[in-house]
Amino acid sequence: MSGPALQPVPAAPASAPAAVPASGDRRRAPAPAHLRFFHGPMDCGKSTLALQVDHNQSRQGRSGLLLTQGDRSAQAQITSRVGLAHDAVEVDAGTDLLLLVRSLWAEGTRVDYLIVDEAQFLTPVQVDQLAELVDASHVDVYAFGLTTDFRTRLFPGTQRLLEVADDVQRIQVEVLCWCGAPGLLNARVVDGQLVRHGATVVVADTAPTPAPETAAPEPGPEVHYQVLCRRHHVLGQLGPGAAGPGQLALP
Ligand SMILES: [Zn+2]
Repeated sequence: MSGPALQPVPAAPASAPAAVPASGDRRRAPAPAHLRFFHGPMDCGKSTLALQVDHNQSRQGRSGLLLTQGDRSAQAQITSRVGLAHDAVEVDAGTDLLLLVRSLWAEGTRVDYLIVDEAQFLTPVQVDQLAELVDASHVDVYAFGLTTDFRTRLFPGTQRLLEVADDVQRIQVEVLCWCGAPGLLNARVVDGQLVRHGATVVVADTAPTPAPETAAPEPGPEVHYQVLCRRHHVLGQLGPGAAGPGQLALP
C-alpha cells in the first residue's frame, strides 16, 4: 500500500496549494501525534512553559484540554509563578484519562492536544493511557513535571514518562542553588533541617498547600522545599540564609 497515490486527482493548477491533505504518503496515517515530556526541578518554569505551549497551540486553531493536580493555587488551574493562569481539569490518581477525553468527544468537544501539568503525580497506568491517546487517537500530549522527589528518586509518573515518551527534555531555567551552581534537586526542609525520609512529595512547588490526604506531612512542623545543587543536597547544606533569595519559605 505504499508508494505514490495513483487514483485520479481532480485537476488543479499545478501551482495551487494543496486544498486537501496529500493523500499519498500520509494516507491512512494522520499526522502522527507525540507524547512529549518536559521535566526539571522546582521553580524551573514548567507551568509557565505549559501555558506557553497551550497558547501557541491554540493560536493554530487547535483545541486543548489542560489537566493538573495539586497546582500551587489549590484550584483547578495551571498557574505559574510569573503570573499566568489558565483553567484546568483537576485529575487524581483514579482518573481514567482515556475515558475523560472520550467523554468530551462524545459531547462534541474537540480535544486535539493535552497539556498535563504536575505530571510527576500521574500513575504509570495514566501515563500509558496518555500514550494510547497519542497512538490510537492522535492526540498530542505535552506533559510537564518534576524530575525527582526530595529523596532524589524519580516520581512514579516521571519514571513512566521517561520510559515511554517520544521526546524528553530537561528544563533548566535559571534555578540556582544558593551557591550559584545549577539547581538540580528538590530538598524538603522541616524546621530548618533537610530531611530525606517521609512520604513522597505531594506539594508541587510551594510551601504548605492543601495536599492529597495520603501524603501530607504531619501537621505542625514548618515545611518548605528548596532547590539545591547535588553537592549541597548530599551535604544537607541549605545555605547561609536558610532560605536564600528566590527560594520559597514561610515567614
Ligand atoms: Zn550548591
